[in-house]
Amino acid sequence: MKRVDELIIKQRKIPIKIKKLEALLRRLPMSHSKWKEVVAEAARSWAGYRGEESLDYYLSFLPDKEYFIFHDLRIPYKTHHFQMDFLIQTNYFLLILEVKNISGTITFDPDLNQMIRTLNGIEEAFPDPVQQVKHQQFQLSSLLQQKKYKNVPIESLVVMANPYSLLKMPAKRPDYLQKVIRSTRLLEKIQFFHKKHKDEKLTRSELRKISKLLLINDTPHNPNMLQRFELSKSDILPGVFCEKCSTMTMSRSKGSWVCNHCSYSYKNAHLNALEDYSFLINSTISNSETRKFLQLSSSSVAQKLLKTSNFTPTGTTKDRRYHLYC
Ligand SMILES: [Zn+2]
Repeated sequence: MKRVDELIIKQRKIPIKIKKLEALLRRLPMSHSKWKEVVAEAARSWAGYRGEESLDYYLSFLPDKEYFIFHDLRIPYKTHHFQMDFLIQTNYFLLILEVKNISGTITFDPDLNQMIRTLNGIEEAFPDPVQQVKHQQFQLSSLLQQKKYKNVPIESLVVMANPYSLLKMPAKRPDYLQKVIRSTRLLEKIQFFHKKHKDEKLTRSELRKISKLLLINDTPHNPNMLQRFELSKSDILPGVFCEKCSTMTMSRSKGSWVCNHCSYSYKNAHLNALEDYSFLINSTISNSETRKFLQLSSSSVAQKLLKTSNFTPTGTTKDRRYHLYC
């Protein structure tokens, strides 16, 4: 989060879900039956993230002081959450962007509420993003009305971020042609919304209050990877990963970690391993679990690493646990 001109905005960062998928890819054997599924999910998540990132270029042309841009908000609504890839706030209107970064031929099918992607002769169905973004609009509008912000115009767009995809729109649905755009048209569309909404609907103070409301309620998607892929702890490879040669072959030697494969040495390699542990297995760890996960032969070395890493300990000496990152 960053304060700009007294307003708070939410900047882009790699989502926790992607960090967890990457940790899982490091620690699941390639021979595992779920490997391909995890690879596919990580590829989809990265494509989505890269698609959103590619819009930053166009949005950078908007003056900072007039537009407040929130990346990836996930807000509780009744019994579930709704997620917005971008929310752009101005004094005149709010704009939700749903970004799709999908390659191949994309056919919109509003009658059946689906979007079909054809790639290399294979058809795949996705939820209709126009319906998705309209639903986000409805939920944001209800939330603002509950908080007494009435009559705030909310616009929404589906932005197709992959410039090489071939888009096919249904005939007789001009609403889809209005709603679905390529990234290159985004600024033109924002100008169009300014012409449509000429009256100032929100003061700076109201915008600030709405920003706070959204940021306080923002709950990033943080799935449990073992549950998500029906894995057990024993599927996760222990060890310390070498970031130079991507093998799990580092061992502790003379106060550092040295790769048995490429000889790369890195003093704090255990911190990355413990972060993987917190992403995949548990947010707290005991001495014996540390020893097993880092493949250490000595409990005093495990103890020293846990203490010098400044993880907060809880419990008595016998069953002490250390709080890791998340
Ligand atoms: Zn190495």
